[in-house]
Amino acid sequence: MQEVNQYLATTLKKLRQEKSWSLDRAASETGVSKAMLGQIERGESSPTISTMWKISTGFHKSLSSFLEPPADPNNETIIRATSTRHTPLESDNAPVLSIFPYDKRFGFEMFELTLLPGYQRISEPHLQGTTEHIIVICGEMELLLEGEWIKLTKGEAVRFTADKLHGYRNNSTSPAVFHNVIHYGQGSCE
Ligand code: MN
Repeated sequence: MQEVNQYLATTLKKLRQEKSWSLDRAASETGVSKAMLGQIERGESSPTISTMWKISTGFHKSLSSFLEPPADPNNETIIRATSTRHTPLESDNAPVLSIFPYDKRFGFEMFELTLLPGYQRISEPHLQGTTEHIIVICGEMELLLEGEWIKLTKGEAVRFTADKLHGYRNNSTSPAVFHNVIHYGQGSCE
């Protein structure tokens, strides 16, 4: 089993037990089927980023809290070599690297996402008060905001309210890479 799937399996099981949620309850809170949650807990499934967002929103947690252990609360310095970044969601056609995990002292997490040609994802609203900051590192991508696709190219940056429907797509012929700083509203995220 991939290390990240193992961490996800353990974390999901632990959080569900802390809340005393049955699989049925967790399914209704997250919108992810009971069968899928069971597979994830047994490490039998490598979920897509859409599924991961549903789970983290349903549990009122940051996305990164399901991907890797929290940062050391006594040390603000993180030095992260490329080889030590996590590559969790390979099944997705949209690789995600964690740059900085969520830390409640700072209220944000940061990812690097790659959108392969033809990729499209519509994201359901994140937790209330969530803001995303997107900076395109290479290629061309489009962002769905307020029902309109906005074209972004290398070097362009957008901040938007992510507690409503939004989306990401790549209609070009080469991969697009962007950084995403996700800031959670105060108290929205445990
Ligand atoms: Mn989003």
